[in-house]
Formats: sequence, C-alpha cells, structure tokens
Amino acid sequence: MISAFSRTPNIGTFLMDCFSAPDLLTVAQAQQLLVDAMSPLTDIESIRISDADKRIVAQDVVSPINVPQHDNSAMDGYALCDAGLRSSTSCELLTEFTLVGDSFAGRPFVGELIHGQCIRIMTGAVIPVGTDAVIMQEQTVVNEQAVTITKPVKLDANIRRAGEDIAQQQVVFTAGHRLNAIDLGLLASLGCAQVDVWRKLKVAILATGDELTYPGEPLAPGHIYETNSVVIQQMLSRFGADVLSLGIIADDKEAIAAAFTQADDYADVVISSGGVSVGEADYTKTVLDEMGRTAFWKVAMKPGKPFAFGKLPNSSFMGLPGNPVSAAVTFQQLVLPALFRLAGTTMPTPKTLTAITQTEIRKRAGRTDFQRGVWSVDETGQVIVTPLSAQGSGMLSSLSTANCFVVLTQDNAGHAAGETVTITLFDEFLA
Ligand code: AMP
Ligand code: MG
Repeated sequence: MISAFSRTPNIGTFLMDCFSAPDLLTVAQAQQLLVDAMSPLTDIESIRISDADKRIVAQDVVSPINVPQHDNSAMDGYALCDAGLRSSTSCELLTEFTLVGDSFAGRPFVGELIHGQCIRIMTGAVIPVGTDAVIMQEQTVVNEQAVTITKPVKLDANIRRAGEDIAQQQVVFTAGHRLNAIDLGLLASLGCAQVDVWRKLKVAILATGDELTYPGEPLAPGHIYETNSVVIQQMLSRFGADVLSLGIIADDKEAIAAAFTQADDYADVVISSGGVSVGEADYTKTVLDEMGRTAFWKVAMKPGKPFAFGKLPNSSFMGLPGNPVSAAVTFQQLVLPALFRLAGTTMPTPKTLTAITQTEIRKRAGRTDFQRGVWSVDETGQVIVTPLSAQGSGMLSSLSTANCFVVLTQDNAGHAAGETVTITLFDEFLA
C-alpha cells in the first residue's frame, strides 16, 4: 500500500511518500493516500440540537432515561386487571370489569388496579400498576360502570413497555455518527437539548482561470461562466463545512499567491479548481512549492485524471481539474472521503446495484470510468440503466440529467447492450 505523508503540520518534517507515489494512481490508491493524510480534528463543541444536522458526534451518546418513560397504552380502550391472564394454570377468564377511573396522556390514573377492575385509557397514557392488558374500545360494550369485553384478550396486549424504544444507559449514537433530522428528534426524545460534536471543517475554495466570469455579468469573447465554485460550495454545505469562497482568481502568480495565503489563514482544507492539467499547472505548482509542498497526480479515472494534492503552512491543499464534470466527480470521489476522515468519521459507502445496460458502452481499458447514466426499474422488476450518449467532462448537463454512475473498472473494455454492469446511485452530494 502507498502511505501518505506525515500527519504532522510541520512542513519541515514531511515524509516524501506521497510525492514519490507512482505517476498514475488508481482511484482506490488516491482515495487511500488522501484519507491517510488527514488527522481527524480534535476540537469538541457542545451545540444545540437544532444546529446539529450533519454534525458528527464526538463521544458516545448514552440515554439518560427510558423511552418511553412509563409503561403506556398503544390504544384508546380499557386497561384491565384479570389475575387469570397471569396464572399458569388454565382458568376461566373474566369478561366483565368494573370501571374505576381513567388515564389520559399527561394525566395518569392515581392508584392500582385489582382483579376485576378496569379504567378508560387513551393512547400514550400511563398504564396503572396491576394492568394485565389493554383492550381496544371497539371490542367492548360499556354499560354505566360495567365494561364487557366482546373478544378474548391476551396478557400484555396493547401495552408499550418503559424503555422498549430506548433503555436507560443504552448507547444511542457512537462517536463518529453523523446526525440527521431523525437523529435530532431521537436526541430530543431523550431530553437532550445539546450534543457534543466535532467542530465544523473550514474549507476555502477558489476557481482559477482568466476565462472565468461570474454569472450575471456579461460574457467577454472567449470567456465562460464559472460553475465549479458554485457546485463545490453547495456540496460542501451539504457536507456541513463552513466555506469561504474566494471566487475567481486570475492565472497570475501574485493573485494566486495572495489567494492561497488568505485561504490558508482561514481553512483546514483549501480546494482550487482549474490549472492542474499538464502545462497549465505552473503558477499553482510554483506558488504551492514556495509555500508548502505539492504532488501532482494523475489518477486513472475518467472524468478526472489530473489532481493536485499538497500541504500549505496551516492546511491541506486539493487541486481539482477545471472541467466541471471532472471537478464534481473528483471532489466526490477523492476529496469527500478525506473530508469525512478529517471531520471525525467515514464517508458512507455508495449504494451499488447491478443493472442491465440498455445500450452499448464503449470504453478504452486503462482508467476507471464513471459514466453518467439514468437507472430505473422496468416492468419485470429488473434494474436497467441507460448511459447518457454525451459523456464529455465539460458537459455539466450530463451530471444534471443522470441519477447514477455506471462504474467501469480500469481493465474493463466496454459492454454490449443487454449485459450486466455495476452502477452506483448518486448520493446526497450529487442528487
Ligand atoms: P483547466 O483545468 O484550467 O485547464 O480547465 C479545463 C477546462 O475547464 C477549461 O475548458 C476551462 O475553461 C474549464 N474550467 C476551468 N475552471 C472552470 C470553472 N471554475 N468553471 C467552469 N469551467 C471551468
Ligand atoms: Mg485554467
């Protein structure tokens, strides 16, 4: 396995491993190098649960209480006491009970039930001591203080036990868990108003290129609109990072040096796009070599290929290719796993399916292809996929139309229509 460079922030003590990595890395090798180069953050903060979506739990969360707190009713009906239900010997069961009170959610019955008694009870209301079962109201006939049951009832029927959802002292989330909306509700159900999480990653992004123009501005001849920082900023905010966007930076040594300095002062990770192809990387590489260290890698992936990785004085540096599809795919495939590691967790494995390709797929052996495709399930229940005909790495519309990658391994040489292929479904970052 290729090892990454040292985790120490001190540039002077860098090991050379990642810089002596082979010219052409596989996707898996590049992912591993990047993940290994990250030391997870160590700063913990306690935040309100309403602010904790996408945040990563820093220490195990143990439930301080039973959920539910009390045995309670799963039905609107009658809680009844019949000693015969508990008896090991067969005996006649009661069909008529004396109504002695009621229990509503938030207003429990005070007292215990004895053999032959029942109370009116509502869903969620506390079960009094002595209850053997709850019978739903549809299976009863009520006549003043007498309740007759019209169907036999089993011991413990319709009773939700204290702690059956979550037991006191149970570990609810382990450290490294990334919280979602439901998880926040679960924390609320435990009475937790705050949760300890790792601090947010700070990421600075910039887009290099003399030809780039901000949307909304007129387009000069030969110019194009800037898209990479729009896409990457959104993906980073879905990840849950604080983002500083430095916008468009000219292909100019001083401008790049000033931007890298500002980015490095702010960020844990600096992400640029553009200027990493052969022959164009000069300023990026010159500036990075003056400020820290850089490795320019070729990753055997399509789209993608050129990718820069390095270290600035205070931050890690990742240089994405400029083509919009390449930038988005390398960000998702290479950068995100490293960001997850830095943030204290592991990136979820993408959901993978096998599907029948509806059209021929052409591919040259040598790189892992992430072809954009549209998958669905046909009327027979078979997963099918149609790779898009336009697969150019500058065509953002291909990523927009697609809902999956058809992943073709390095040695794969293509498929005829009707063959089985592997697809990975777009995750929360691409969908
Ligand atoms: P580069 O990697 O700088 O050689 O750029 C490769 C291609 O991507 C060129 O056609 C660029 O114009 C285009 N490109 C670079 N950066 C961006 C960007 N931020 N937004 C849209 N297109 C870009
Ligand atoms: Mg460029």
